[in-house]
Amino acid sequence: MNQNKLFNQTRWRLASWYAGVMAFILSLCGIGVYNAIAHAHLVALDREIESVAGTLHDSLELKLKQPGRLEPILQRFLPNICQIGTNCQKEQLSSQRHTLGVINQGSYYVRLFDNFGRPIAIAGDYPEGLPLQLNKELWQTLQDSKGNRYHQISVALHTDSQADWGYIQVGRNLKDLDDYLNTVQLILWLGLAMAIVSIAVSSWWLAGLAMQPIYQSYRQIQQFTADAAHELRTPLAATHATVESALLMPQLDETEARDILQTIERQNFRLTNLVTDLLLLARLDRQNLPMQSQVCCLNDLVEDLIEEFAALALSAEVKLTADIRLFNSLNVLGNPDRLYRLVSNLIVNGIKYTTAGGQVIVVLERSDRYALIHIQDTGIGIAQNEQQRIFDRFYRVNSDRSRGTGGAGLGLAIALAIVRTHGGSLSVQSELGKGSTFTIRLPALP
Ligand code: ATP
Ligand code: MG
Repeated sequence: MNQNKLFNQTRWRLASWYAGVMAFILSLCGIGVYNAIAHAHLVALDREIESVAGTLHDSLELKLKQPGRLEPILQRFLPNICQIGTNCQKEQLSSQRHTLGVINQGSYYVRLFDNFGRPIAIAGDYPEGLPLQLNKELWQTLQDSKGNRYHQISVALHTDSQADWGYIQVGRNLKDLDDYLNTVQLILWLGLAMAIVSIAVSSWWLAGLAMQPIYQSYRQIQQFTADAAHELRTPLAATHATVESALLMPQLDETEARDILQTIERQNFRLTNLVTDLLLLARLDRQNLPMQSQVCCLNDLVEDLIEEFAALALSAEVKLTADIRLFNSLNVLGNPDRLYRLVSNLIVNGIKYTTAGGQVIVVLERSDRYALIHIQDTGIGIAQNEQQRIFDRFYRVNSDRSRGTGGAGLGLAIALAIVRTHGGSLSVQSELGKGSTFTIRLPALP
């Protein structure tokens, strides 16, 4: 198949489309999974910041007396708080007392602003790259000069007498979340790449598998066309040669003319038979065509055929007999002409491939729901490795081509096609030099 350009291209196209569609679907799934993970973590983070900000807000508001003024007691809630304008950051940080609050755990910071948005103090792990400005939006995600992201919430603060004090901003850096999301992203990319590679390989293999039967039937059609052309050419060439030689003769007497006409008639007969067989095969292939069926009595059919081929058997010096192992008539539903053609093809083969002095017996019997017709001969037999191939169109066992038995190799193909259209089966048992038995199995009427 790989040598055939059309099939190879189609296989490539199928495989790449399949891999492409799968890659697209998987990418969408990957983006979905990534967004779901990021969203879930961000929601959890929002809750955490909200609860820290809420706790601080509630605790501080109880201690605030005057708008914009830092009460010393705030040190108890924010141990490393540093008032803007004083050079206290480093010393305050180093002289922290021992606390377990999240503000002092590394990633959180707190900023206090007065009512006019001027910064008053900062505490916690203050991000140096972030501008000291108040933005009154509730939630904000910011980025510092180094590319670190921060997420913060801003809430208004009041004094214990309900006057506006200013604002508190609680935030944290998103480094651990970003690191985690980067790892998730990396895993998803690697997974996607690996999945696409394995999908590409398996889709190439699957495309090959799917195209195998199509390729086989394509090859069969090719072979069939070549064989049909070859078989048609032989009688045409013979006719042409006969006519040509006749035309070259200066004069033709009546006997010669008759001889020539007989040769042409013989070739014409062969040609007609071949075309009829090909048409029948084409019709049998189109299984959706309705078949005219009726009840057919196989006993009558076998007896008629024995009678009809008695002369042929006699001339071939072969004994042709029937062995009907039934007391009643055995009926099947089918097309009488085709059933006739089916059994006659096998009887003719039996006679054709049996040497003088041999015999052909047609056995009719019933087994459960099936009618069985065995055509047994004591002929030349068929080698084991040929037994499946003889049902192929135009196939003839090699030596037979030179034996002058004359056929085109369509008889068994037609027989098999007819049996199949009747819901039955055709099998062969044969031994080289000893003879063959062809068995037709058809669903019998009760
Ligand atoms: P056609 O039937 O088209 O006139 P054919 O008889 O050669 O030609 P098939 O009937 O399809 O073609 O048979 C195919 C081949 O199988 C034959 O050429 C022959 O070699 C072999 N064959 C068929 N029947 C027998 C048989 N009873 N004994 C031995 N060989 C057989
Ligand atoms: Mg035949």
